[in-house]
Amino acid sequence: MTTFPEPEPLDTGTPQQVDEDALLADVAEQVDDLEQLVDITPLDHPRRILLVHAHPDDETVGTGATIARYVEEHALVVVVTCTRGELGEVVDPALADLASTGPDDDRLGEHRVGELAAAMEALGVREHRFLGGPGRFRDSGMMGEPTNDDPRCFWQADEADTVGALVGLVREFRPQVLVTYDANGGYGHPDHIQAHRVTTAAFDAAGDPAYAPALGEPWQTSRLYHTAIPDAFLQRAVELGVLPADESQRPRGVPDSEIDAVIDGTAQMGAKVAAMRAHRSQIDLTQGLWHALVAAPEFAIENYVLASGDRLPGDGEHGWQSDLFAKE
Ligand SMILES: [Zn+2]
Repeated sequence: MTTFPEPEPLDTGTPQQVDEDALLADVAEQVDDLEQLVDITPLDHPRRILLVHAHPDDETVGTGATIARYVEEHALVVVVTCTRGELGEVVDPALADLASTGPDDDRLGEHRVGELAAAMEALGVREHRFLGGPGRFRDSGMMGEPTNDDPRCFWQADEADTVGALVGLVREFRPQVLVTYDANGGYGHPDHIQAHRVTTAAFDAAGDPAYAPALGEPWQTSRLYHTAIPDAFLQRAVELGVLPADESQRPRGVPDSEIDAVIDGTAQMGAKVAAMRAHRSQIDLTQGLWHALVAAPEFAIENYVLASGDRLPGDGEHGWQSDLFAKE
């Protein structure tokens, strides 16, 4: 009769010993590599974030370091831009002839599609979409301008079209985190206010099985963040002489104690500046506001207020969280 030796107990460790974050980071990296070779779905990426911005360059100026950080960490980063920025200012004299000459002049918007693509490359973003497709919603111009009344502009767009388009993207990419502006759009531009409204509505609608079933399976995003400028940063910008001391002439700040998450993008500043450089029709890095701002260390720090979802206190000053995906 044959006897078998007692098997050695397998040392599998206890579940508590598994470092879940390290494991997820490992999976994320492998999925990122595999994506070059085979078709994978958004859900194969353990962490997914979708940012909604109004015009080309907003994604870079407001959230470029955050985007670059999560790309580096192998999260799926989706950037949605609502308009092509047809009516923006042209700061580069070499491109001055692109400035809008009237309501049917789309040349600047078409040019900015290319600048935005270059910025996405600098930040490492593979998934960029224009809401409803490029040119679907037109730049509305600054608040109070006659262009706000253009029926083709984002400000005048039908809610079913705008929210439906974003719900389709949320259900396709299934992000855990959505990012957009606060109710004032950060500084009162109609397209930024509209981006806030559309994202707020889509956050709820995407998870509602009764809303437009044809747009895909319901998906409830866990957290909605608003970009924010802390008062301390505004104060610093006034000291640097890049913003006026008069409060009515500068963006609205948020008290530092109301900030929920702080992304330190110091290590990502190279990518952020490269993406800013790609937006050459509207950002001049050689002088003025942007020249001064990129030299300020605070510009690498991007701040967020949690609008919906679980607030988990972090270990930063005022309980700031340092990760938009933070879990218990
Ligand atoms: Zn904008």
